[in-house]
Amino acid sequence: MQAGRLIVLTGPSGVGKGTLLQLLLQRHPELYLSISATTRSPRPGEVDGQHYYFVSRARFEAMVAGGELLEWAEYAGNYYGTPRAAVEEKIRLGQSVILEIEVVGARQIHQTFPSALRIFILPPNLAELEQRIRDRGQDSEEAIARRLDRAKAEIDAADEFDLQIVNDNLKDALKKIEVAICAANPNIQFG
Ligand code: ADP
Ligand code: 5GP
Repeated sequence: MQAGRLIVLTGPSGVGKGTLLQLLLQRHPELYLSISATTRSPRPGEVDGQHYYFVSRARFEAMVAGGELLEWAEYAGNYYGTPRAAVEEKIRLGQSVILEIEVVGARQIHQTFPSALRIFILPPNLAELEQRIRDRGQDSEEAIARRLDRAKAEIDAADEFDLQIVNDNLKDALKKIEVAICAANPNIQFG
């Protein structure tokens, strides 16, 4: 059986990665979305083991020390990382796996999985990004400021990625992601 493909989706917080992924997974249930571990507190409606594994800093540090994470990074005061075992198992079984991670982690994946397809999602502009974070209504003023500050540096790194897609019109952005993933992966049907 052919090994699955690793796909990295990166972009500033609030750009619409989660929204796009939800739609992509509805259309392609054969894709597996990795569930990250984080030390951040759950937002209203977020479920442990579904949106993230919400862990203490001590547990996260033990995961790092034990080599349990494929990559990890600090973001806006919290740790985030990709549990290794589930990803490696799905890839081995021929399933394609999506990692929704920030830039520092994406760079680590580029080192360890050079064949991973790396897609960067851009906002139409920074004002629209801020509006989307605010409209989402789930982050404190401090968290919003930290995310916007980090967004500028992340957008500067967009050229490091294989592909840049602007999430202006949601349907158009979704189609572009779908085309890129299908082109890179003969196991996945487009349409
Ligand atoms: P991320 O996962 O990148 O942090 P979300 O998926 O939570 O971003 O999206 C942030 C907000 O932006 C949500 O309220 C979402 O409904 C909205 N959004 C996503 N894509 C678009 C789009 N193309 N146009 C307008 N609003 C969008
Ligand atoms: P949020 O707190 O908005 O859910 O996520 C903050 C940032 O962390 C986002 O850019 C998201 O892509 C990133 N992120 C989520 N999980 C991981 C992970 O496992 N590793 C890394 N490096 N970043 C992650």
